[in-house]
Amino acid sequence: MVEKAGSVDDRRLTVALTFDFDAESYWIGTAKMDFPAAVSRGTYGATEGVPRILKLLSKYDLPATFFIPGYTADRHPDVVRSIADAGHEIGHHGYLHEPPNLLTPEEEREMIERGIEALKRVVGKRPRGYRSPSGELSKATYSLLTEYGFEYDSSQFGADRPYWVEDKGVRTNIVEIPIAVELTDSCHFMFLFHPIVLPGLSAPSKVEEIWRGDFDGAYEEGGNGCYLLTMHPQIIGRYHRLQMVERLICHMLEHDGVWFAQMGEIAEDFRKREGAR
Ligand SMILES: [Zn+2]
Repeated sequence: MVEKAGSVDDRRLTVALTFDFDAESYWIGTAKMDFPAAVSRGTYGATEGVPRILKLLSKYDLPATFFIPGYTADRHPDVVRSIADAGHEIGHHGYLHEPPNLLTPEEEREMIERGIEALKRVVGKRPRGYRSPSGELSKATYSLLTEYGFEYDSSQFGADRPYWVEDKGVRTNIVEIPIAVELTDSCHFMFLFHPIVLPGLSAPSKVEEIWRGDFDGAYEEGGNGCYLLTMHPQIIGRYHRLQMVERLICHMLEHDGVWFAQMGEIAEDFRKREGAR
């Protein structure tokens, strides 16, 4: 954990660096493109993306959270272990990157169980948090996450700071640490014609302006904000994009009172502040 502030009272902003290590599972499970060239775009995340990202995080001694589908853990156990060995948190991200909103409750339960089992098998512990593989949830998701003891979710877009998840009008015991479309690399960089159109290939300078602008605004505002970046090793792992991330990290490190934290720590901190139930 890197905390530049002298105390929690001095903290102006929490920063969460998160990576969805989908690898091949996105192409097989979500895009339904189980063909050699498409799938190899996911493999790039394992061969080049993750090692480069780990090197960058270690250079600045920064903590991060990786959301990993069970299939990725089974297919790339050594890469996943290298993430855990570097001290980063690992969260649940489905088994084969299945969109939860397209599953029956029984299928979703099986997906959650298979994801937990694969992560336990490879890194030896169960995940504390969950992020939907598709940016959408089902009506059964939160009762399942509660049943399986998840402490936090990171799939919603409802605020710039953590909040309690409400499920069917009732507050749950799950902390939401929300994401943002604007702060997600795939929305800017991913090139894809099918099954959805993403023009992608944005210049890093444009994305740097957007990401930096949101950081500066959140820092200026203070008030327990949480600036959360969602990145994918197969996308952000290209040289020109990681150079941009490094420039942004240096910019953030120039500010006092920035708490770089893992998602589990952020959920714990919120729970403490709100009073545990
Ligand atoms: Zn994903």
